[in-house]
Amino acid sequence: MWKVFGQDSLRDHLASTHKKGSLHHAYLFTGPEKTGKKLMAMDLAKALNCESQDAPCDCCDSCRRIDAFLHTDVWLVDLSGQPDGAASRKEISTGEIQEIQHSASLPPFEGRTRVFIIDGAENLSSFAANRLLKTLEEPPPRVVFILLAESSDNVLTTIVSRCQHMVFKNVNHSHLALYISQQFKVDDAKAKLVAQLSGGHPGWAITAVKNQKILTDFIEKRDRLLGLYQANREEKFSYAEDTSARFGSDRQSVIEELKIWQTLTRDILYAQFGLEENIINCDVFEPLRELAGLYSTQDIRNILFTIGRAIDQLGHNVTPRLVMETMMLALECPEAVAVKL
Ligand SMILES: [Zn+2]
Repeated sequence: MWKVFGQDSLRDHLASTHKKGSLHHAYLFTGPEKTGKKLMAMDLAKALNCESQDAPCDCCDSCRRIDAFLHTDVWLVDLSGQPDGAASRKEISTGEIQEIQHSASLPPFEGRTRVFIIDGAENLSSFAANRLLKTLEEPPPRVVFILLAESSDNVLTTIVSRCQHMVFKNVNHSHLALYISQQFKVDDAKAKLVAQLSGGHPGWAITAVKNQKILTDFIEKRDRLLGLYQANREEKFSYAEDTSARFGSDRQSVIEELKIWQTLTRDILYAQFGLEENIINCDVFEPLRELAGLYSTQDIRNILFTIGRAIDQLGHNVTPRLVMETMMLALECPEAVAVKL
């Protein structure tokens, strides 16, 4: 059974192409985090190797081994694991792509098709990307590559052109809330809150329903960020210090926090324009409305710009302390941010 929720046309296309036996040798799935790209890739890997007529069945030995990452013909490459740990790795290395190339040149070992899922195609080093390109240009038989990325903008253009590109989208909040309340038997109010806070990303919403701590941690982080708008200078710089110290060991959590902040700030803008239906953090509507009255629209846009730039800079090795302190200055004095929007 294909399990991805909310990407029906993509799922139907892959399922029917698989049934016809006319799948492409390489796919690029792009779209926001937690919208089902990896789950769809796993489903496709299962469909290609399933032992049942009704593939992917999720029950046969092959499907179960793929789910457990034990199937020798299905590889997942990402920034976790290997060699210096998830926290500090920034690139998928040439060595990893060399291993993939070697494996792709061999016939499938236990299944019918070798599947290589590269989660984070934007993280391929330039050497690794060029090596992968060579394989995509002359694909071996019975091999499918599935590349996952948030956007195709940061993937080598020549790689994009060799792949069938499928774009994953955010899922409508009401549809997601209904799905969650029916599937996980939670009350409507919680389903609505989780769907809304997920920003239409089913992967996050489902994890938050299954694990209350994820939801509690999110709300705690989000509320701290909300408090920063009216915090004094000392509190703001203390936050900058904490965050930049944490960045060395857990860069991903800092970037995720900035993305929460981006959403929160966008909500303030929506509150200014009375676009309540667009607000994601609907459970803190009153504080958002209050902040909307304290800042000008240009101030909020300047802060939004600064957060976006900070996310970008942190991805490009700018000193975290400098980035975070600049952000705090933008909060103190948003009109001083030199930007034309
Ligand atoms: Zn199966």
